[in-house]
Amino acid sequence: FKGWQFQHYPVGMPDSSTVTLVEEQLGDLSTGQVLIKNLWLSVDPYMRGRMINTKSYVPPFQPGELLQGGAIGKVIESNNPQFPVGAEVMHMQGWRELAISDGSDLTAVGGHGLPLQNYLSVMGLTGLTAWAGLNKVGQLRADDVVFVSGAAGAVGSIVCQLAKLAGAKVIGSAGSDSKVAWLSQQLGVDAAFNYKHSDDLTATLKSLAPEGISLFFDNVGGAHLQAAMANMQDFGRIVSCGMIDQYNAEAPVAGPTNMADFIRRRIRMQGFIASDFMADYQQFAADVGGYLMAGKLVNQETVVEGIESTYDGFLGLFSGANTGKMLVKL
Ligand code: NDP
Repeated sequence: FKGWQFQHYPVGMPDSSTVTLVEEQLGDLSTGQVLIKNLWLSVDPYMRGRMINTKSYVPPFQPGELLQGGAIGKVIESNNPQFPVGAEVMHMQGWRELAISDGSDLTAVGGHGLPLQNYLSVMGLTGLTAWAGLNKVGQLRADDVVFVSGAAGAVGSIVCQLAKLAGAKVIGSAGSDSKVAWLSQQLGVDAAFNYKHSDDLTATLKSLAPEGISLFFDNVGGAHLQAAMANMQDFGRIVSCGMIDQYNAEAPVAGPTNMADFIRRRIRMQGFIASDFMADYQQFAADVGGYLMAGKLVNQETVVEGIESTYDGFLGLFSGANTGKMLVKL
């Protein structure tokens, strides 16, 4: 079977020498093991962090080993009665066509009438990130003025919609005019702008939110963070979800130069990791699954096809090739 092997830790943007598509052999199944044919793979910005050889909340990829990531597959051989042939499962052995498991790392999915790949997007960690970040960390209120950076991406597009459903005013930024139009017309945000066409993000935000931002959900960092801080209301909250602006930086990136705003406006800023909120999964699934079933939530996916396309799909996250969740269909 084919899988993507990690070669070396890149400096700057990963390139064609960072990973290689290789052929691997499978051994026989032992007692308790199952063979899974992967159907859907997730590619995510956090995987760039696993290409840095440093201690973090997930271990770095190891040169010479296959990469890992979220995947959904079907059991095609089974020595484990808990996961019989035909069972649909979610696990972390992505970036490859086949996987062997003893069942301990598998979660059964499906059965709710939702497309399987939804468990890698809106009903999976992406949706949980949006929901927990907004509600548990950001403590979203109906009278909030919410600014979402990376608004047309996987997490951002769910954040925008959940904030709108709660009654908040929502402003989103994205990197193309078509994404901006999609945010306004399909997701119903109150205002959206193309950050690549704004030479003064602080002024752009001031014109769209003259009353100030009370809650900033940040997927990007950098200039977005600086501009949002300059436009926060007193006692505003910043939910620091991601900093994709600097994931491929070749050297450490300077922080905002307006930290005095932080004090002056009494801003509270908190980072978070979605997996810390797994205990809230049922509440999340009831909330977001309910909206989805009721047709109140748009779940947008950008799908690339074939194991060969996986790496291009991943790199596409850094050039904005996706609207909504980037997925690989095998
Ligand atoms: P997205 O679907 O949002 O994909 C990434 C998007 O980021 C691209 O489509 C692109 O859109 C935008 N982007 C890429 N480079 C830049 C840049 N230099 N400046 C501004 N925008 C850029 O990915 P996810 O929704 O999966 O993740 C969004 C963020 O949330 C990431 O930072 C990720 O690391 C973080 N995250 C954090 C989690 C947590 O637990 N804390 C969990 C999951 C994600 P555009 O065309 O608009 O530029």
